[in-house]
Amino acid sequence: MIHDSYQRPLRDLRISVTDRCNFRCTYCMPEEIFGKDYPFLPREEILSFEEIERTVRLLVPLGVKKIRISGGEPLLRKDIPTLIQSLSRIEGIEDIALTTNGTMLKRLSKDLKEAGLQRVNVSLDTLDDRVFHRLNSRHHSVRDVLEGIEAAASEGIQVKVNMVVQKGVNDQDILPMARHFRDTDHILRFIEFMDVGNYNEWNMEKVITKQEILDLIHKEMPLEPADPRYFGEVASRFTYKGTDKEIGIISSVTDTFCGSCTRARLSANGQMYTCLFATGGHDIKRLLRSDATDLEVKEHIASIWNGRTDRYSEERGGGDRKNGKRRKKIEMSYIGG
Ligand code: SAM
Ligand code: SF4
Ligand code: SF4
Repeated sequence: MIHDSYQRPLRDLRISVTDRCNFRCTYCMPEEIFGKDYPFLPREEILSFEEIERTVRLLVPLGVKKIRISGGEPLLRKDIPTLIQSLSRIEGIEDIALTTNGTMLKRLSKDLKEAGLQRVNVSLDTLDDRVFHRLNSRHHSVRDVLEGIEAAASEGIQVKVNMVVQKGVNDQDILPMARHFRDTDHILRFIEFMDVGNYNEWNMEKVITKQEILDLIHKEMPLEPADPRYFGEVASRFTYKGTDKEIGIISSVTDTFCGSCTRARLSANGQMYTCLFATGGHDIKRLLRSDATDLEVKEHIASIWNGRTDRYSEERGGGDRKNGKRRKKIEMSYIGG
């Protein structure tokens, strides 16, 4: 097992399998920037399933146990169940999950389940189609996502629903979302709007904080705090009083998690990032496509992790917190959130 310069082990790997998406969420891939002329990665730049599998195999002895598949929209990647199946067979991988906008779950849930997928996080920011069309996609509807959620659940895949909350955009949807998902088996998690990427015009005034979300829900549906399930869990958990129904809040702006951050990220084009807010990555693809041996690739990745000093959200404070734009960051759609 390896540790970085703050003694944090490497435990989780997020793999982005494509930089493309069928949505244009304003906070992630705004249409004005990610239009039809946007230079998406050409096919040959994208890691093959074999390259991804090799990387994961080499990372297991370094400590990786958990994998999350993301994107862009990961279900757009052709034959994605095949990748999940091969990763789920790697000894030492204890958990595989996937983050998706949900629109293709209806079609793919059965194959994903058969391939070994246990958990999905589905992103849904509103139950109101008018908001959804403005915020996420003009070409889809809330119903597509809800049907995807039910398709996954009916295959026995555990579903969590993630809602990114922005002031003046979808904060009016907090209570309807809470009410709706309280009556289901799916845990709803609210995510503070983050200053990722370079184009979403983030500023602190657009953030609805964890405390504001809690106060709002608690007034109507009293909540009580629940213990974290494991060390380093980023969502704070709450249950509706007197029930075991749960919500989570990911306070990625008002709290910091750097001290327990054990996540590395692999972009679709084979760059390794050691922080969500990184400005640059480490080129693993070049090594994978050279005649480097497994040992050489593994040692290279170990040295990247050993040298890791990232603690962006602890350092963010002050001026950066106001505009979040001080430096050029990697786009969320490249590294999968
Ligand atoms: N397309 C998939 C989806 O939307 O679930 C996977 C990729 S998406 C980049 C991963 C997660 O990042 C989603 O839950 C999305 O809501 C979240 N996300 C993207 N931009 C964000 C931002 N600026 N602040 C907070 N969360 C964000
Ligand atoms: Fe696509 Fe997910 Fe980004 Fe929305 S958040 S644009 S669905 S990658
Ligand atoms: Fe991890 Fe970077 Fe987020 Fe800190 S800011 S928790 S180091 S991803």
